[in-house]
Amino acid sequence: MTRGDVDGWVRVRGAREHNLKNVDIDIPRDCMVAFTGVSGSGKSSLAFGTLYAEAQRRYFESVAPYARRLLNQVGAPEVGEITGLPPAVALQQRRGAPSSRSTVGTLTTLSNLLRMLYSRAGTYQPGATHLAAEAFSPNTAAGACARCQGLGVVHDVTEELLVPNTALSIRDGAIAAWPGAWQGANLRSIVRGLGIDIDTPWTSLPRADRDWLLYTEEQPSVLIEPEAGRIDHGYYGKFWSARKHVMHVLSESQSERMRERALRFVQSIACPDCDGSGLRAEALAVTFAGRTIADMNAVPLAELAGELRTGVEAGAVASAAEGSEAASRIAADVIARVEVLLDLGLGYLSLGRNSTTLSPGESQRLRIATQLRSGLFGVVYVLDEPSAGLHPADARPLLDVLERLIASGNSLFVVEHDLDVVRRADWVVDIGPGAGDGGGQVLYSGPVEGLREVADSVTGRYLFPRSAMAVHEPRTPQGWLRLRGVTRHNLRETSVEVPLGVMTAVTGVSGSGKSTLVTQVLAHVVRGHLGTAAEGPDDAVLEVDVAGVSGVETFDRLVVVDQRPIGRTPRSNLATYTGMFDGVRKIFAATDLAKARGYTAGRFSFNVAGGRCETCQGEGFVSVELLFLPGTYAPCRTCHGARYNAETLEVTSRGKTIADVLAMTVDAAADFFADVPAASRSLETLRDVGLGYLRLGQPATELSGGEAQRIKLATELQRAHRGHTLYLLDEPTAGLHPADIRLLLDQLQRLVEAGNTVVLIEHDLATITDCDWVIDLGPGGGNAGGQVVASGTPRTIASGRGATAEHLAGWLA
Ligand code: ADP
Ligand code: ADP
Ligand code: ZN
Ligand code: ZN
Repeated sequence: MTRGDVDGWVRVRGAREHNLKNVDIDIPRDCMVAFTGVSGSGKSSLAFGTLYAEAQRRYFESVAPYARRLLNQVGAPEVGEITGLPPAVALQQRRGAPSSRSTVGTLTTLSNLLRMLYSRAGTYQPGATHLAAEAFSPNTAAGACARCQGLGVVHDVTEELLVPNTALSIRDGAIAAWPGAWQGANLRSIVRGLGIDIDTPWTSLPRADRDWLLYTEEQPSVLIEPEAGRIDHGYYGKFWSARKHVMHVLSESQSERMRERALRFVQSIACPDCDGSGLRAEALAVTFAGRTIADMNAVPLAELAGELRTGVEAGAVASAAEGSEAASRIAADVIARVEVLLDLGLGYLSLGRNSTTLSPGESQRLRIATQLRSGLFGVVYVLDEPSAGLHPADARPLLDVLERLIASGNSLFVVEHDLDVVRRADWVVDIGPGAGDGGGQVLYSGPVEGLREVADSVTGRYLFPRSAMAVHEPRTPQGWLRLRGVTRHNLRETSVEVPLGVMTAVTGVSGSGKSTLVTQVLAHVVRGHLGTAAEGPDDAVLEVDVAGVSGVETFDRLVVVDQRPIGRTPRSNLATYTGMFDGVRKIFAATDLAKARGYTAGRFSFNVAGGRCETCQGEGFVSVELLFLPGTYAPCRTCHGARYNAETLEVTSRGKTIADVLAMTVDAAADFFADVPAASRSLETLRDVGLGYLRLGQPATELSGGEAQRIKLATELQRAHRGHTLYLLDEPTAGLHPADIRLLLDQLQRLVEAGNTVVLIEHDLATITDCDWVIDLGPGGGNAGGQVVASGTPRTIASGRGATAEHLAGWLA
């Protein structure tokens, strides 16, 4: 042990949660403990499912007796006894969708402090009274801009979106935003009744008429004469301008499809009244160090820290009208907190950055930094892969910050795959040897070095390799996709060349521009060429500026495999997402009993009434509203999680009910359905990407971003064809044990062998080495990044300069 003798232990006896095999283990407190093992071995079941769950259960019992009943429903972890367990705080990556109003500032609570600073120590206009801190928040009635209600954006239609093809006449559908079918014909009759020519091309109509048709608030009623074939009787029809119609649909329609269609015609622009800040004019008139709070929210944190220091030095705080001592304390506190974020390499973020645009790694680091200042001690922090999404250069400062949590008297349990992080741990608990039923045992618990001697441990083999790795021989590019003058976020007039027919890693420190380049610019350019639209609503208004593109013609397909969840409700799962569940339902419908009772495949769906349990409407769970535990689910009391009603569960195929099938792991199901091609192909590809341990019915909400990404990849592999597809992946190795990374890489290499092009954002050095080409972005994050620092084969990169070169050279040595 590096941290002296252990003086406290968490002793676990008889842990049986999920696949844990009656585990007894003693884990030291007050140091960093890494939980390792292949995916599905049971690391999370021990760290989160047992230790954290038990700490949380005890906490709620002590503070909220009323919660006990609900907790009983949620259930205690399957464990005999745990002693010596401190209160626990979990900083997990797999969490629900963040609210769109939360920002870096609200997540870190820095916004509150900054508002207090402006309230007390801001420079006010002569004669202006001091504002309360709330007046500087767009989320309060006192602070919100009246026009945009504090949102900072207003939605409005534009002529380009409403009338995409100006050569068309109204009869031919120039106003694309208007409804189709009867309503559309009705509007055309009204327009004609108003004396506007509906056969003239849009561009030839007088400007005044065009503006009126698109934007007027007037709704004249017009007598429509009978028309042959359409209407037999005359009637009065009411006019709706295109804007009025779109806004009406957006505010009133219950149909998600209609609303989505309407959204195509609106553009979100910064609110002109508050310039996008969401604040009232009174608040925007107050400055600190010459800047408004809106300015401070918009600048990168690195700059914010500088501005605040300047403000403090210039004596702004000391001369403040009231509470100057308190104000200087606040300023010092803000600066100290921002510095932790700078240490963590997050200096490129701004306080106003919306939390929905942060990567999971970025938000976890923000939460870690926030904890550091919380002053808690004697707590155990349970973390889920803190190194995920981090360049090796960023991982080091993170570890320093984690060490500070320990130094202030806390314990740290991390579920981790990154071998560099594991090496830094004081103690390692290795679970295995395999996944699911093949795992669940403690192979080793002790200082890292001891793992060398554990023959069964896959982790040990990677930590202490016996033989040198075979280095991949880079393939020769089959051509180039060239982008010239790319401008978006921190990419400024950047030119990039992406080799075709090979596998390329895009590397660089956090904030250097990797996601912007790969998942936004490249995807946008190729979509533009293919004439396809993105799934997300954001792409329509994606502002990508590219001066020149060549080489894009070779692609006939684009596949973006990202870490977005495969569904946001427990209703979607692995089986439904991959489509294999359709085949399974058919098998059940084909059984004798099902046929005798007239059950079709639909009967075996948990999404429609008929076969499902109606108490939980097929979810298997009911959501429990617990004050402190948002989004907690308890098993349904009628079906006990089975999702189906009793009659449906009477039908079995080879001794299993449909609920039993959903409870199977992919591995088990692959054996069970080995002779059913429709199901076994999906199952085999899921196994190939290392997901054999997942259960078919595992709700999408329980899957990590990395698991969701591998499910998408497997779904893709299952229909992969020879061809000219561009695959874009965002850190596919996140959350994977080195042994699982190997499996995944074999699959990606298969895609390249079949003639496709693969581009991935990567930090894992083994993966980068396995690529044919590397594009290294940097040199730093945010404004200090956005350039191509180097590009070439992994060896070429390693012999160059910069953060990636240094780590890659160490790896290849
Ligand atoms: P790891 O963290 O090592 O990847 P987990 O602890 O998540 O592994 O999973 C261990 C085993 O427990 C796997 O077989 C997994 O399918 C199973 N498991 C995980 N979560 C649940 C759950 N909520 N219900 C039942 N089984 C689960
Ligand atoms: P990486 O993927 O290398 O971590 P990103 O492409 O996410 O880097 O970020 C590059 C730069 O663009 C950073 O300065 C980041 O703050 C900025 N950026 C990324 N996404 C957004 C966004 N949605 N809004 C504003 N700035 C963004
Ligand atoms: Zn506004
Ligand atoms: Zn039920």
